[in-house]
Amino acid sequence: MRSRRPPVKDHARTEATPSQSQSGADALAHSTPAAAASHSQEVLQAAQQRLRDIADNMPVLISYVDRSERYQFVNRAYQEWFGGPRKIEPGMTILDMIGLESYERARPFIERCLAGERVTFENYLPHREHHRHALINYVPQVIDGVVEGFYILGTDLTAQKEAEEQLFQEKERLAVTLQSIGDGVITTDTRGNITYMNPLAEALTGWRNAQAVTHPLNEVFCIIDAQTKQRAADPVMLALATNTPSGLALNTVLVRADGSELPIEDSAAPIHDRSGNVIGGVLVFRDMSATQAMAVKMTHLAQHDALTHLPNRLLLKDRVVQAIGRAARHHTRVALIFLDLDRFKHVNDSLGHAIGDKLLQSVAGRLLGCVRATDTVCRQGGDEFVVLLPEIDDGHQAARVADKILVAVAQPYLIDAHELHISMSAGISVYPDDAKDGEAMGKNADSAMYHAKEQGRNNFQFFTPELNTRVQARASMESNLRRALRRNEFVLHYQPKVCLRTGQVIGAEALLRWHHPDFGLIAPDRFIGVAEEAGMIVPLGQWVVRAVCEQIGAWTAAGRQPLPIAINVSGAQMRDKGFMQDLRYACTSSDVAPALIELELTESVLMHDVPTTADLLRALKEMGLRLSIDDFGTGYSSLSYLKRFPIDALKIDRSFVRDISSDPDDAAIVSAIISMAKSLKQEVVAEGVETQAQLEFLRQRQCDQMQGFLFSKPLPAQTLAQQFFAFR
Ligand code: C2E
Ligand code: MG
Ligand code: MG
Repeated sequence: MRSRRPPVKDHARTEATPSQSQSGADALAHSTPAAAASHSQEVLQAAQQRLRDIADNMPVLISYVDRSERYQFVNRAYQEWFGGPRKIEPGMTILDMIGLESYERARPFIERCLAGERVTFENYLPHREHHRHALINYVPQVIDGVVEGFYILGTDLTAQKEAEEQLFQEKERLAVTLQSIGDGVITTDTRGNITYMNPLAEALTGWRNAQAVTHPLNEVFCIIDAQTKQRAADPVMLALATNTPSGLALNTVLVRADGSELPIEDSAAPIHDRSGNVIGGVLVFRDMSATQAMAVKMTHLAQHDALTHLPNRLLLKDRVVQAIGRAARHHTRVALIFLDLDRFKHVNDSLGHAIGDKLLQSVAGRLLGCVRATDTVCRQGGDEFVVLLPEIDDGHQAARVADKILVAVAQPYLIDAHELHISMSAGISVYPDDAKDGEAMGKNADSAMYHAKEQGRNNFQFFTPELNTRVQARASMESNLRRALRRNEFVLHYQPKVCLRTGQVIGAEALLRWHHPDFGLIAPDRFIGVAEEAGMIVPLGQWVVRAVCEQIGAWTAAGRQPLPIAINVSGAQMRDKGFMQDLRYACTSSDVAPALIELELTESVLMHDVPTTADLLRALKEMGLRLSIDDFGTGYSSLSYLKRFPIDALKIDRSFVRDISSDPDDAAIVSAIISMAKSLKQEVVAEGVETQAQLEFLRQRQCDQMQGFLFSKPLPAQTLAQQFFAFR
């Protein structure tokens, strides 16, 4: 191996020997050989220095090795690259410098270079504590056809490598996203020719990516309007033309490769390069068939009642508006019939909601059987139904339908082995006779229906203007009730109860009246229902309990011997948490023995949540109160429950008593109730006794007590005491 230069002296500034590049042009300017020699020496040194400076300031690694791979020259960058733990020492070889692993990779290139070839390759080289990627060039130095050594030129590739890696990962991530995304994605070039389709786009269009690429988008992505079947505009072309994202028109259908159609939703956007130039477009679309099916289902749900599947009030409203529009054009009429089941609450409370629900379903079926296909039967909620007759000539037609409905609904129902009887009350409003729009029709039919209820149920009524005033009166009832309570406008009257055997008064029932400043004495039937609906019954009931106790206290203070007083109790009061406490407080604060208080409960109140009621009744009994069942026979009492409740007395409803002397059915019912009560060891009280004949009947059947106008109407407290309470 020949070496043109001595070994490296100054490792940091080992000088290179690019002899061919040194022209020595400066030297020719000097005349004397000695001077010329020293001058050319200086020139040479200056040139070498310049070269060194250039090499040192280059941002690349530069070195020169001889054939034995020993360094003859390294620039500053080279030194700094390896300058960490391994400093370049004189006589060091490439192997010393870059370590065996990197050297193994370099060796084939060293060999090729020593054979005279310029080579370029990438190597992974130690760099201080780490390794870095470098692009290496070996340039052989050939003198007289012989490779004397070679230059090594290197650039750091690490940053580029990292950027490439990042780019790769980014692309991978994009690819994975596009593969797995739940939307079809198609990209195009600026002319709208397809450049890529993801797998879902393939599945939705029925085209393969490979087939589709380079085809114009509108060949592959053929969309039409669902209704008109007209070709829809290409959204990508639109986005490209306007250079803004564009959404798809509603109701778009994609015609797939096999001709089948698919409802879709899509959006398109232009793709920009870094300088903001449009380089293509992207289309994102999705299959809407599942969504549309769901939407149809949701719409049905939103417009129909879940229990009966009848249209609900929302759909009805819409149909009423349409019907009115048509009737106005054709000069016909529209009728709205509001229907409400009579005493449905009894069924629900006593037989449970499951049976109540089945009854509502059966009623719905019967209603549908009474109308034409063009009519609408709707469930408003609860036990309220509405029938819309969109095209009638006069009100009589509506009356005929209402009549048919009342008859159909009144037929007995057999539900879970229970035979049920129920009736309906109906109110009719006719457009344009008594209302000009749907809302007014609704209100009017509703008030007509209330009127029907007041007329004794199981009938229908047309709306009349007088009804309106009554409806308004009803609405103002609630606020009036509150005011009445504040102003102390309520009074209690007392109806005596008489022992049939002895003819003695043995107690009385407290009955509420409203002493209205304008309308005089108002009967409870007119306001108890509203008070219950309006949540006013609890405070009103509290007032009654307190008033009764205070009254007993007052009678006692006046030296009378008071008899037990019965108080009517509504369901909401029983459910009120403070009920027991109110009772106890009223008794103690007026110093009244609980045995002087009897609570009258109705069957539906008792049958509501039987276990809780049974507990409450036991607690009330323990307090010492008496308990009786009011209006017995009108609800759906279960006899087995009746046995479980600690009841002292049954009060036979006055509707049975009324006809006992003329109607054999009622006579049989009353007789049965009396004997049943006796077997349960309960007292029986007959309500509403008005005639001597009734009294005789009851006496024969050994009814215990009676209450009725025959003996006495409800009386003011003072009158009652004066007439019936002895002095102590
Ligand atoms: P109820 O508890 O069944 O009371 C008996 C009703 O029958 C009373 O009507 C009474 O005046 C009436 N009546 C009594 N004897 C005869 C008769 O021989 N013939 C006729 N035709 N009727 C008779 P009133 O006072 O109008 O009370 C009606 C209903 O209002 C009561 O029926 C009761 O359910 C309710 N009520 C009355 N006061 C209260 C109260 O303080 N709280 C609650 N929650 N309800 C009450
Ligand atoms: Mg009563
Ligand atoms: Mg009663």
